[in-house]
Amino acid sequence: MLHEKAPAKINLTLDVLGKRPDGYHEVEMIMTTVDLADRLSIAPAKDGKIRILSSDRYVPDDKRNLVWQAAELIRKKYGITSGVTFTLEKRIPVAAGLAGGSSDAAAALRGLNRLWGLGLSLGELAEIGADIGSDIPFCVHGGTSLATGRGEKLRHLPPPPNCWVILAKPDIGVSTADVYGRLDLKRMRHPDTPAMEAALRASDYEAMCRSVGNVLEPVTMDMHPEVAMLKNGMKRFGADTVLMSGSGPTVYGLVSSEARVPRIVNGLRGFCPEVHAVRMLGDGLPLD
Ligand code: ATP
Repeated sequence: MLHEKAPAKINLTLDVLGKRPDGYHEVEMIMTTVDLADRLSIAPAKDGKIRILSSDRYVPDDKRNLVWQAAELIRKKYGITSGVTFTLEKRIPVAAGLAGGSSDAAAALRGLNRLWGLGLSLGELAEIGADIGSDIPFCVHGGTSLATGRGEKLRHLPPPPNCWVILAKPDIGVSTADVYGRLDLKRMRHPDTPAMEAALRASDYEAMCRSVGNVLEPVTMDMHPEVAMLKNGMKRFGADTVLMSGSGPTVYGLVSSEARVPRIVNGLRGFCPEVHAVRMLGDGLPLD
């Protein structure tokens, strides 16, 4: 039995540059992994089947699960007939803008590479993952990267300066496709991605806080006023900067001093069911 940690990501920036002929959006985003993670256990199964045992009843346990798709793709590609049982302990909120499913799939790819002794590099695993989902290549590597193209082209960046991340997910579901569909490409406030990259290179916390931005935020806020309420609450309780991650609805706040974390967390718990205070993972996970 093998174990893999599947951490969530947040978007420090998320920009959409246009729509491509293949129907995907051309994106430019800086993402980093945080220490809120699902746990995936992987065991060989004698009956040749792919099976998923999930702790979350809202997560599908069949071929709709990205973990299942990752396993099937690897089996097809390398002519493997062995079965595998995944036990998935969900901690990352589902459909939240935190790439939970993508990170689980990435963990499955890393784990199966070990279980079946395939000897693939992280780059090769990332390429395989890109066929299932655009965020999977980033999740294979973890750490901090600038992602372009559909999100699958990565350039590694230095880790963010040390701080706390407070994640708050309102009790609403947001469909990523719906949010992208409502985005008006002619009227967007683009984040300053080069400024964010410079802030990371200089390890400048204040500049990082000034440079966060997400073009999808106003779209999701329009559909769900709860997101704006959460943002305002988080700021009022003392976060240094606040942004929605991905297509939402999770909102995160950055805080430099640990002493301010409990006040924000306790304040938010009054009106938000799911609040976590975590650290950034910086350079990514040790891949053991
Ligand atoms: P992203 O930030 O990439 O948009 P997300 O956080 O919005 O991701 P996920 O948590 O990955 O969304 O889940 C979105 C949908 O994908 C769920 O509603 C679920 O039906 C499906 N899904 C497939 N595999 C998984 C998985 N392993 N964990 C959670 N959801 C999964």
